Amino acid sequence: MVASLDRFKRQVAYAPIGIDGQRRLAEAKVAVCGLGALGSTIAERLVRCGVGTVHLIDRDWVELDNLPRQALYTMHDAEYHVPKAIAAANRLSEIDPSIQLHPHVCDMTHRNVQSLLTGVDLVLDGTDNFEVRYLINDACVAMCIPWVHGGIVGASGQTMLVEPGRTACFRCLLPDPPPVEGMQTCDSAGVLGPAVGVIASWQALLGLKWLVSNTHPHANAVERDSELAPATLTVFELWTGETRNIQVVPESQCVCCKQRDFPFLTGLHCSDAKVLCGKNAVQITVPALRKLDLASLAKRLGSEGAVIETPFLLRFTFEKFTISVFADGRGIVSGTENPDEARKIYQRWIGG
Ligand SMILES: [Zn+2]
Repeated sequence: MVASLDRFKRQVAYAPIGIDGQRRLAEAKVAVCGLGALGSTIAERLVRCGVGTVHLIDRDWVELDNLPRQALYTMHDAEYHVPKAIAAANRLSEIDPSIQLHPHVCDMTHRNVQSLLTGVDLVLDGTDNFEVRYLINDACVAMCIPWVHGGIVGASGQTMLVEPGRTACFRCLLPDPPPVEGMQTCDSAGVLGPAVGVIASWQALLGLKWLVSNTHPHANAVERDSELAPATLTVFELWTGETRNIQVVPESQCVCCKQRDFPFLTGLHCSDAKVLCGKNAVQITVPALRKLDLASLAKRLGSEGAVIETPFLLRFTFEKFTISVFADGRGIVSGTENPDEARKIYQRWIGG
């Protein structure tokens, strides 16, 4: 601790952290879910600040077009398609070899989320799709683990700290996932590296603040029947420099934090992937609550690749893949027999 205190002397000198806060950071266990632009920056910030144990969860590998935004990765990682969790752990261990790093190369789903988050004090959202956010919210509320939401498209971003048992949750803000067909994504609207850095740093700051202010992960949890406080959603328009705080009041009928029903955690509201044998294709099924408007989807995808629309389905082709999607959200991704790759392609182009 003496050597590490020297490393952190400027942080320790900041009164709200101090020696006690630094000790709490060293004892803390966090999980960063998703190691793209947000997650890789969050992970770096937390490791450099001395958070003792960091779980790094991501299903992807590093690609060349990640490098403008994703702070931890190099040309070498992109050339060798190194999984992001491994590449991140390699780099972070060079920054501070005393940190316990646990890379998990996997798709976080309802099947593994509870085992991935067991024993974790705080979860940080570095994901880029709604299905995983609702899954994180369900899991964190069920397991009473605070989590820091973050999201960004273009130069518009937002953050929110959810403290189960104490504040409103993500489903109080958005009761159901928004319709995917009109939704802007980082593929359609782009994203700016410096803007991502602001949102990720803000998330890391919210996380640090929570970790140094709470001696026990569940210190703030109160009886479920007690009154919950609003959560603060901070919205950033980074191109114009505007920010605002919105108080998210707890919804008296919230399915998650009030009724304690967790359909994303049980798998009821989660998509699933099934290999179609001999067809070089994977079928993706999604929960019924996400009906698609094929005409709006055709409009959005039209500028990205070849689109054919029939009364029954929409077919979208890019590179070697074709996605056929039906109005009930069911999709068939042709050109792969890898369920993880098919889910990734579906979520990237159709939504998640
Ligand atoms: Zn809620």
